[in-house]
Amino acid sequence: MISVAIDGPSGAGKSTLAKRLAKELGYVYVDTGAMFRAIGLYTLRQGKQPSDAQAVQELLPQITLTLASIDGAQHIYLNGEDVSTEIRQEQVGMAASAVGANPAVRSFLLDQQRALATSQNILMDGRDIGTVVLPNATVKIYLTASAEARAQRRLLELEQKGQKADFETVLADIQQRDYQDMNRETAPLRQADDAILLDTSELDFEQSFEQMKQIILTHIQ
Ligand code: C5P
Repeated sequence: MISVAIDGPSGAGKSTLAKRLAKELGYVYVDTGAMFRAIGLYTLRQGKQPSDAQAVQELLPQITLTLASIDGAQHIYLNGEDVSTEIRQEQVGMAASAVGANPAVRSFLLDQQRALATSQNILMDGRDIGTVVLPNATVKIYLTASAEARAQRRLLELEQKGQKADFETVLADIQQRDYQDMNRETAPLRQADDAILLDTSELDFEQSFEQMKQIILTHIQ
């Protein structure tokens, strides 16, 4: 089986690029961030603090996550409910980042993530795919961009959805999330030694897509 691990900070374009690449290559796209987001959402719904490791750990036995691919798009079900849209909210992203620092949450998801790569060709995006989840992935790409470039893109996305936001707030959120993801003790975000670095600060979507495609095609031959 071929597995492509794509890691990098929030807003680097991983999911949009990975989705399109999966379609082009005929692989299944797995967005692991959605799993952390669903746990973050459940925690918020239960009125618990995402940073309260003990409280979140106690919630885990109540959580069943299921992934399904519908028309090439990943849907995630939290105890049977499709929460794919709800988990995209900004505060759920922050909650995901907090629960992602919890070792119990990471081990709860690890086996599920690994199992997804055993029976199908996949493109998996996350923070620790190349370093922890799939250390033997066929290809590893570390996709990044400057915090300013990522904030600019995020702002545009929010505006297109009709949501109001200002650059400084979006940038501060991105910087906070980077800090949390890179400095946690368990599975921090970092480039795997054998990952190929792609910085998209100066690239548009098509250029980033072409470069990633070339990297993948070169490695699977
Ligand atoms: O990629 P996305 O922004 O949806 O991820 C939400 C949060 O989930 C990230 O900020 C990160 O803290 C956490 N996450 C993680 N490991 C992954 C995927 C996401 O810790 N493999």
